[in-house]
Amino acid sequence: MWFSQEVRSELARLPAPRECCRRAELAAFLRGGGRLELSARAASLEVEVQDPAVARRLLGLLKETFPVSAEVLVRRNNRLRKNNAYLVRVPPSADVQGILLALEATDEAFIPSAGVPPFVWRRSCCRRAFLRASFLIHGSLTDPEKGYHLEWAVADYSLAQGVQRLLASFRVKSGLSQRKRGFVVYVKEAEDISTVLRLLGADSAVLRFENARVLREVRNQVNRQVNCETANVDKAVTAALRQIEEIKWFDDHLGLEHLPRRLREVARARLAHPEASLAELGQFLRPRLGKSAVNHRMRRLLALVRAHQDRVREGR
Ligand SMILES: [Zn+2]
Repeated sequence: MWFSQEVRSELARLPAPRECCRRAELAAFLRGGGRLELSARAASLEVEVQDPAVARRLLGLLKETFPVSAEVLVRRNNRLRKNNAYLVRVPPSADVQGILLALEATDEAFIPSAGVPPFVWRRSCCRRAFLRASFLIHGSLTDPEKGYHLEWAVADYSLAQGVQRLLASFRVKSGLSQRKRGFVVYVKEAEDISTVLRLLGADSAVLRFENARVLREVRNQVNRQVNCETANVDKAVTAALRQIEEIKWFDDHLGLEHLPRRLREVARARLAHPEASLAELGQFLRPRLGKSAVNHRMRRLLALVRAHQDRVREGR
């Protein structure tokens, strides 16, 4: 899924000038991959992400928004994981509780809150920021040449519902389904996917998506046309084979010389050019005939042959 990766790296590099939005993004990171460790001394905070650019963004947001020291640790891949994981960590300190409260991630007793924090709802910029950060952790997008599908795969229902409501607040239609592990919020309409990418701030991805969409639609249109033409050709070939069968039957039983001249000419032309369309057949006749005239004669010819076939059968 190259497109997913492109969107992620574009989003991870966006500037985050507003403090309210930085907090909204951080809240999404905590809800998505945050792990709180409490000890007798103090609380520490860890967020695990899979992408180094996303880890750098998270670290930057933290340091710009809160006066804390934070670090990124790399967890090397072992046999169980395919990729490295990146831990953004705030070491044990009294500051951790302040961060959690400011982000409405837990209450004073460190009980985690569910869904999208209330402060995120207040501004549309923050709703977009929350969607952006949660897409960075949970999101993926099918390559637009292959189909239209954008999704958030999240662990718990309250977050899935929250994402769906945030999307609805921007009039984006989404579906919610349950998977083996967790829940998926998905967007299927090309128009809506475009809107989501724009909301997230992935402007160059929007352009690429729209280009791919146009190409795909043109290609589908061409395929439909080709299928339609192929079907017509098949039909014409089948019809021609049937005509040849009938004409040969007549020739065997009565002889083509017993046909009226105009019909005989059409019959001979058909036997000589089995693959020709009716319009092409008309070009082999003298004088030349148009498609509808050939069609007319062919029908009379076949009706005549069938009348003879009936007579032969009755005579038996
Ligand atoms: Zn904001």
